[in-house]
Amino acid sequence: MSNIRNFSIIAHIDHGKSTIADRLIEHTFTVEKRQMRDQILDSMDIERERGITVKAQTVRLKYKAKDGKDYILNLIDTPGHVDFTYEVSRSLAACEGALLVVDAAQGVEAQTIANAYMAVDQELELVPVLNKIDLPSADPDKVKIEIEEIIGIDAADAILASAKSGLGTEDILEAIIKRIPAPEGSVEEPLKAMIVDSWYDSYLGVIVLIRMVDGQLEAGDKIQFMSNKTERVVDTVGYFLPKPTKTDKLVSGEVGFLTASIKNIREINIGDTITIARRPTVRPFPGFKKVKPVVFCGMYPVESKDYEDLRDALEKLSLNDSSITFEPETSAALGFGFRGGFLGLLHMEIIQERLEREFDLDLVNTAPTVVYRVTKKDGEVVIIDNPAGMPEVGEIELIEEPVIDATVILPEEFVGGIMQLMVARRGMQTNMKYINETRVMLEYKLPLSEVVMDFYDKLKSVSKGYASFDYEFSGYQQGDLVKLDILLNKEKVDALSIIVHKDQAFYKGRDLADKLKEVIHRQMFDIAIQAAVGNKILARTTVKAYRKNVTAKCYGGDISRKRKLLEKQKAGKKRMKNIGNVEVPQEAFMAVLKLG
Ligand code: GDP
Ligand code: MG
Repeated sequence: MSNIRNFSIIAHIDHGKSTIADRLIEHTFTVEKRQMRDQILDSMDIERERGITVKAQTVRLKYKAKDGKDYILNLIDTPGHVDFTYEVSRSLAACEGALLVVDAAQGVEAQTIANAYMAVDQELELVPVLNKIDLPSADPDKVKIEIEEIIGIDAADAILASAKSGLGTEDILEAIIKRIPAPEGSVEEPLKAMIVDSWYDSYLGVIVLIRMVDGQLEAGDKIQFMSNKTERVVDTVGYFLPKPTKTDKLVSGEVGFLTASIKNIREINIGDTITIARRPTVRPFPGFKKVKPVVFCGMYPVESKDYEDLRDALEKLSLNDSSITFEPETSAALGFGFRGGFLGLLHMEIIQERLEREFDLDLVNTAPTVVYRVTKKDGEVVIIDNPAGMPEVGEIELIEEPVIDATVILPEEFVGGIMQLMVARRGMQTNMKYINETRVMLEYKLPLSEVVMDFYDKLKSVSKGYASFDYEFSGYQQGDLVKLDILLNKEKVDALSIIVHKDQAFYKGRDLADKLKEVIHRQMFDIAIQAAVGNKILARTTVKAYRKNVTAKCYGGDISRKRKLLEKQKAGKKRMKNIGNVEVPQEAFMAVLKLG
């Protein structure tokens, strides 16, 4: 076991985690040169396109070190996004150390801090790596100071690397074996393994990624999942090279996978302990957390005949992602659909995108919402994940909403702008610290709903893209909240209701009515748009009926232009819903995200 090292790579997005992983894989000849491609561990199309890691990947590397010995290095990649924090923490728990990769030109960013703190909490040995030193703007000495100041670890021995050129790759490998401790544990002890991740494979069924702590495991063993005492017989065990590859057995200290004819990933709890029923470990891991969705939205097929297809698609996707939830939902406006629950905004967007791309579905999605806790006057507490379900004002004693602890890192010159944005988003500053002469770290307590509403684009524009942002869930807090309704020709459109702070109801109502006026196109009759809280109308606008034929503005001359316009209208119709007799496009449901 002294020749095993289990490590992870943590970094802010784009600082070079995937590229460093590529270099390590290449340098250790784990993948044949002709099969090597960029970001080899990012397997989903969406991951490659968006440059993010959604699912943790693992790869076993063999390295002959300068001391002449052979080492096994298990790289457990982590999803690098706040939506998947729990998965990150489990991946880190399976390691003894981590490479802390920081872009030497950018410096420490919000996710660097969030991930590094998590690793420090788990008592991991951190090996700082300053990447991209090939860039002219790289300033490794400055970044070393940032790491020491903000994360509080010694960065004197940080490795200078360029994952692009391959510089520093060997230094990284040597540091992994010298600075990261070998796993402890004993082959003699009863089996103790932690579930790091699981997913569905169409050939092998459910694959369970495990970190062996004590004992050994082989095909035919009868294992027990300690959280629910279910038992299974192991079919295969293996490693990732990075393709799943069978082996005879896994022993303490190793990272690998097992399969056991498990059909449903919902049976598997990440963080759970695996042992052998007749000789169980007496020291299971502290348990596991069921991850709960925090962001919800309605998903409706444009054509009601696609409802069953949507259900099938959601079922297929949740085969591989037990954190998605979906329940049938009926909307007076949109008909039959589902309310989906997700770990965060990114997670929601990925699923929506996959439904449309991989399953070829045309959907109308409603705006995302957080989960409110409403105490009614009669003492009943209800959980509201759809604004339309909010009880009547007269019945409500109090409403609580989720709040987060957010960290923003940005150049000094944007601090004023960000502070304004945070005030507009009901944020309360809790800390401000200079990282160096030019960069500042701000901390805020902030309602999660404010981040769900188009926060990232605002943050980006206020800071010209220089601010980084990360957060963790803090708890529930009472808020002075009301439901804002939208009426089209006096009919309330349930799918357009939102929850807003009382003080913002007036201007949000007015802005929303204006935005809707922009996206709902003219029809044969006037369309009155109203925003209301309870019976009180806050704003009103009208989409005037059109008088002329739409093609009239082509001056009758150019036939092909006319046809193009009609075709464009037809294509635009795809994501359109008839509400009463008004045609409402998908953009209308997202208009609420574009408010001030
Ligand atoms: P990740 O989001 O942390 O996984 O980052 P990636 O590995 O995807 O890298 C982000 C971008 O930085 C990509 O365009 C890489 O090609 C680039 N990059 C990575 N390492 C280096 C480096 O050492 N030097 C330079 N100049 N670019 C790099
Ligand atoms: Mg990456």
